[in-house]
Parts: sequence; structure tokens; C-alpha cells
Amino acid sequence: MTLELPPTRQSLDLSATKFITPEKPDKSNRLASTKAGGKMVAQYWENIFTAKERGKHVVWYNGTALNPIFQAAGLEWCHGEAFSARLAAMHLEGPAQAAGEEYGYIGELCSYARTHLGCAVMTQKGITEKQSGIVGMVDQDELAAKLPSPDFFVNAYAGCSTGQQWDAMTYRVFGKEFPLFNVSLPMIWGNKKDSGYLRGSEWEKTPLYVEEQLKKLIEFIEYQTKTPFDWDALSENMYYIKKASELRLEAMALCAAAPTPATYWDWVASIAPINFLPANQLLVDYFQGVKDEIEQRIRDNVSAVANERYRVYFDGIMNWNKLGFLTRKFAEYDVAVVAGRYTHDSFWQEPDLIDLDRPLLGMAQHYLICPINHGLKIMEELLLKRCDEYGIDGIAFHSTRTCRAMTNPQHILARTAERDRGIKSFFFEGDVADASFYKDESLESGLVAMLESIDQQRSKARV
Ligand code: SF4
Repeated sequence: MTLELPPTRQSLDLSATKFITPEKPDKSNRLASTKAGGKMVAQYWENIFTAKERGKHVVWYNGTALNPIFQAAGLEWCHGEAFSARLAAMHLEGPAQAAGEEYGYIGELCSYARTHLGCAVMTQKGITEKQSGIVGMVDQDELAAKLPSPDFFVNAYAGCSTGQQWDAMTYRVFGKEFPLFNVSLPMIWGNKKDSGYLRGSEWEKTPLYVEEQLKKLIEFIEYQTKTPFDWDALSENMYYIKKASELRLEAMALCAAAPTPATYWDWVASIAPINFLPANQLLVDYFQGVKDEIEQRIRDNVSAVANERYRVYFDGIMNWNKLGFLTRKFAEYDVAVVAGRYTHDSFWQEPDLIDLDRPLLGMAQHYLICPINHGLKIMEELLLKRCDEYGIDGIAFHSTRTCRAMTNPQHILARTAERDRGIKSFFFEGDVADASFYKDESLESGLVAMLESIDQQRSKARV
């Protein structure tokens, strides 16, 4: 889908970087409409926790957004990364990580996997001790212990081998009692002459291979549930996903305006709704609400960061422990983080690919365009496209300690942005769900240095 981007509305204040003291007031202005998403997500998890009492089949899955298939099959679905991210965002990841550590998972293992494996250990403990299959009875005050035990697992991980090993280990934690289905998502290497984002012979062929596996996945689910799959429900689910995705992209495109009416942090807050909430009218209404608020802000000249002077792109998976902190931190320096690889190149970001008459193909295509599943050529193409769309001045590379898949190409991407667009960047250390890896000094010094470079670049351009 081609986005019609609005023109920049007003010039930015480009005066040199001011050093900030910790007492500075919060200059960020987050969208109010994303709070509705937070409530929907909380309700979703509360519902999952009671799945067994309601006699539902439960699937645990990792990786890509298979939930429209699970929804059509009448399952309750638990996304491993999503639950780990939720625990980290609520600062409740400790018990699960301790359980994982006790079981032998070292701190260098992906902290999503480590946290979720810890949840599996706690869940299994609940089954063993109560023999009820209803988890949460053992230790109701630990959110990490509340997941219902799975009836089966599905893994569909693009661009990272941790996912498959994570599920293989979870399978063992549960005594190899529950079956596991693995969807193989090949890398889109993009190194042929005709290759590019959504084009070339590799792109034409690979989704067909994945589409066939999704058909097999549906046969597997039918076997597990002893219920025929509802294909009409799948098309209906994809209709809602498509509508929600279109609204999300239209709202994102409005943030090309400067100052931006919403930031990357608002899009982070909207990941859970687009990534795993049930596909229905409520989901569409949520993204309509976000878009409406952004349009209203543009009409009222309300910006997401007071005195926006720098527009930054964020590369790396979100540091869920630090969402509010980072929102305020960047705003302190008059930085609007406008877009990012995680938010803008993931999560049903190409709604035109969704064909309601052949939903599995569009789903396969989306699973393959996960932002860690491309070769460098396509990653560079996407990065430069986003930098151009959003008028980016600098890039913050979140060097996500336990996620090598996201971190691997970052130094080359930094060089590409500087070489082809003169865009400055810096790196800071952190992690997806382990707060101990975050280094405030690394962020602070890198950010200030980058902003000074941008100031110098602007001064030279004015001479
Ligand atoms: S290492 Fe990164 S891509 Fe791989 S499972 Fe963990 S968070 Fe996902």
C-alpha cells in the first residue's frame, strides 16, 4: 500500500542542543486513546487465565501472528513473547526469570524465551502439585504462574532459531506430553538480481511453500480439537485485521508531520492490539480511535513532544521494562522518536497483501516480512524509505543484548544511513525483558553526542 504522506506542517526549532538536568518536567505527550488498548489487552489475559475452567483448548505459540487461525478454530491462544513483554512492562518478570534460572537457563538466552520458559516451569509445577490442569491455583499472586497449561504448541519463527529451540525446551518442560507443530519460515535472502522488498522470483515462490504448511497446520489443529476448521471465520478475521491495519498505517503516515502528533512510543503501546488481540470490530474501533485522536491533534496543533527539534528512528526490539522511562528520556532532549523497525515494519504492515478469498497466502507473506527475516539489501531499502518518509535526523540503535537476530545487522545499517543520507546514529545497551542489561549512561552519552553531531551538521548547512 502506498502511503499518502502529509507535508511537514511547520519548521522545527533547530537551535543547538541544551544539556538537561534530571529535574526537567516531562515533555512527552502520549496519546490518550492507547489506554483503551491497554484495557483490551488486560481483559484478553484475564480471559486466558480462565480458559481451562471454560473447557477451552489452549495453544501456546511463539513467533508470528497465527492468532487469526487459532481464533477461527475456537482456541484460546497464548503468545510467548507477548506474555513475557507484559510481565516486563509491569515489572513482574522476576519470578519467571528466577524459575527459568533455577531450571538452568542462562542469562544470555533471549529474555523473552527465558521468561516464558520460567512461566512453563511454574505452570508445570502447578499441574504436578494440583493435578487439576488449572494453573494459578498454586500461587495466585504471581502473574507469571497464571498461564493455563497448553494442549499443544505451535511454533512459527521467522529470522531467528531461538524460537524453535524455545518450544522444543518447553515441550520437554511439560514432559513431552503435548504435541508440537513447527511452521518453517525461510529467510528472504534478497540477494538475487531481481530481489527487493515484495518483489523478485524469491518473493513470488517462498510464500507458496509457507501457505502449504499453514494448510497442514490447520489439519493438525482439526486433529487436536476434533472439530472441522471454520474457513469463513478465518476470512472474517482477516477482514477485521485488514481494516485495523489500514487505519493503523493511515494514522502512522500522519506522523510524517513535524512536529509529530504521535511517537514511536504510542505505536509501541499499540503493538499488542494488532499483534494478538481477537480480530473483531473492537479492534477496528480501537485503531479508528487512535487515528481520530491524531487527526484532532493535527487540527489543534498539538505535538507529541514539546519543542520537537530532532526526529529519530528507533532500531531494535522494544525494551519493555523502560517504555515510560524512554518516552520521557528522549522528550527531555527535544527528541521525537517518530518511527521504528519494530513498529513500522511488522504486524500486518502490508494490508494490500490480505486476500479474503485466499487468506493463507497473505498470511504467509506477512510472516515472511518479519523485520528480522530479510537479507541486508532489503533491510537497507526499508530503513532508507522510512527515514525519507518521516524526515529522520538520527537513529537510536537499541543494542538488544539477548536478541542477536535484531542486533546483528545494526552496525551496517548505521553505516548505510550515514553514507546514503548523512544520518547520524548512536547505540545504547538494553534488552527486551531483562532490565539488568539497560545502561543509562550508554543511552545518555550516545544520545547527547549524536544530537551535537546533528547540530554541527545543521550549522554547516546554514553557512
Ligand atoms: S532472540 Fe530476538 S528474535 Fe529470537 S526469539 Fe528472542 S526476541 Fe525473538
